[in-house]
Amino acid sequence: MTSYARPIVGIDLGTTNSAVAYINNGKPEIIPSPQGQRIIPSVVMIGLDGKVHVGETARAAQIAMPDRVVAAVKRKMGSTEPVTMAGQQFLPQEISAMILRELKSYVDAKFGPGEKEAVITVPAYFTDEQRRATKQAGELAGFIVERIINEPTAAAMAFGLERLEEDKHILVYDLGGGTFDVSIVEMMSGILEVKASAGNNHLGGEDFDWRLAEWLADKIRKAHGVNPMKDLRAKSLLKEQAERIKKELSTVDKVEIHLPLVTMKDDQPVGLSTTITRREFVALIDDLLAETIDCVRQVLADAGLTPGDIHDVLLVGGSTRIPRVRELITEFFKKEPRCDIHPDEAVALGAAVQAGLKAGILADSGMVVTDVAPFSLGIAVVGNYNGEERSGVFHAIIPRNTTVPVTRTHRFYTAAPGQTEAEIEIYQGEHKLVKHNHFLGKFRLKGIPPNWEESQPIDVTYRYNLNGILEVTAKCVANSKEASLTVHDALQRDSEEAFRQSLDKLQALYDQATAAENETGADDNEDDEDFDDLVQELYDDPAEYTYDKLHHQIKRLLLRVQVFSRDCDELTKRKLKKLEEKLVQTDASGDLEAMQQVIDEVTDALIEFELREE
Ligand code: AMP
Repeated sequence: MTSYARPIVGIDLGTTNSAVAYINNGKPEIIPSPQGQRIIPSVVMIGLDGKVHVGETARAAQIAMPDRVVAAVKRKMGSTEPVTMAGQQFLPQEISAMILRELKSYVDAKFGPGEKEAVITVPAYFTDEQRRATKQAGELAGFIVERIINEPTAAAMAFGLERLEEDKHILVYDLGGGTFDVSIVEMMSGILEVKASAGNNHLGGEDFDWRLAEWLADKIRKAHGVNPMKDLRAKSLLKEQAERIKKELSTVDKVEIHLPLVTMKDDQPVGLSTTITRREFVALIDDLLAETIDCVRQVLADAGLTPGDIHDVLLVGGSTRIPRVRELITEFFKKEPRCDIHPDEAVALGAAVQAGLKAGILADSGMVVTDVAPFSLGIAVVGNYNGEERSGVFHAIIPRNTTVPVTRTHRFYTAAPGQTEAEIEIYQGEHKLVKHNHFLGKFRLKGIPPNWEESQPIDVTYRYNLNGILEVTAKCVANSKEASLTVHDALQRDSEEAFRQSLDKLQALYDQATAAENETGADDNEDDEDFDDLVQELYDDPAEYTYDKLHHQIKRLLLRVQVFSRDCDELTKRKLKKLEEKLVQTDASGDLEAMQQVIDEVTDALIEFELREE
């Protein structure tokens, strides 16, 4: 058991996959699912049984029941637009809460039920709203969210914990499923100081999949005059296949594509047979990859460093497995990136390190971490823009890359004679005009004593805390009593009600499923089997169902092989590499019998290796 009373865990809530970790004997460790999965797909489904399914089961049903499944919800975090799942509407944070609830069940299985604290990671480039939504998702899932930290910082912490005595600059290049982040961290005698961060919240593996899916769809359009992207099921299938092909192209130069049934035209099946080379795929995504290198340039400039000043480049996120990404980094830095951190687990492990620091169980390590505000935070003012006096000019109060936590106060003056109220409009961004920046909120400061002779001073204070959450207060200087409002409070009051509604909605959803389960007296296994049958019924072609099922088993095995390969001897590593290649090739062949055989063979081999390790 643990040496601390209330367990605190670190969570990577990813666009594609999620994971949870904790500190065991001074080292971060993943908490696997009861089935042994170290990371789970961030995919949620309401099954035909009304039950919420998270992870592999939901992912496997994506093509068969696209309207019951939600994936990549992280890309929508912070938006108030509801997402529809099984005919019901949910806020993005409610869907994320379901993923976190699943992870919490693994934590509960390990530590027993009860309250748990969590550190949750977000992309460094996440806006204030996206951070709040993430915090809320954690709370809806029943966690006490201790801190929201930046993903690249977390990765650097996982790396830094092992190397506390080293002094160096590291660059974390984090290209995941939906977001891209790059940070420069200076390590010095156990102090990790983030120097600068940059990124793009809407750039990642998902975009690569869609580019490739469009390429496939285009081939079908040209050959058959039908647009498969208009058919929801075909669209899901092409997206899934695109991801599979993309991943294969990370290990082979060319992929043969045989999709016998993508959509229907005049009651006839429409399929696709073609090939794609790695070079062709790279051409589809080259502009997006170039964008990531632009961010690298920007972050270096912000930190006042050159590529030669970077000692180590850490690659984090599943999309860094694309060979072209490694090539670009190697060309840019004239050195190979480091490969000794696990791209899928580093963030969760780093979050656990932060959790350990917070709980005091890593206090002896001497590690101290400071982070930066990735955006400038400021206010709308009447000011000079291109030599012209106008409203809507952005005045930064906390400039980008200021070390956090930070409190800055700026004195402003009322614009009109006799003014008794002032509107404080808060923005985040780098443009000189607020309309091009991200609006965070506004409030009115009332009770300013009218002064017809001259302007009244108002002190506006911005507090940006370690969670990357901003509080703004405004104070009228003239009447000395503080007449202030904080944006934080204003948003909290709104969201308090919304939070309770979300909580009730989720509770009702889970209660309803439990009630239905009790009524039928089904236990979990039976339920899974029933569910399997239901999914099966939705496939027109039983072979297609079997393919999907085996394909996902292979994917799970690949993950186990990769994880196991990390800590074994060279001979075993080579053997595992061969098995990995066999898995990928057989999966691509689509030969159902061969797929089942390779699954059995690799499962047996893994058990044998694992037994030998013990
Ligand atoms: P993450 O958000 O870090 O879990 O990264 C997930 C993204 O990595 C998804 O878009 C995956 O398709 C992508 N990914 C995982 N493995 C590979 C691979 N071998 N080659 C290319 N992309 C991959």
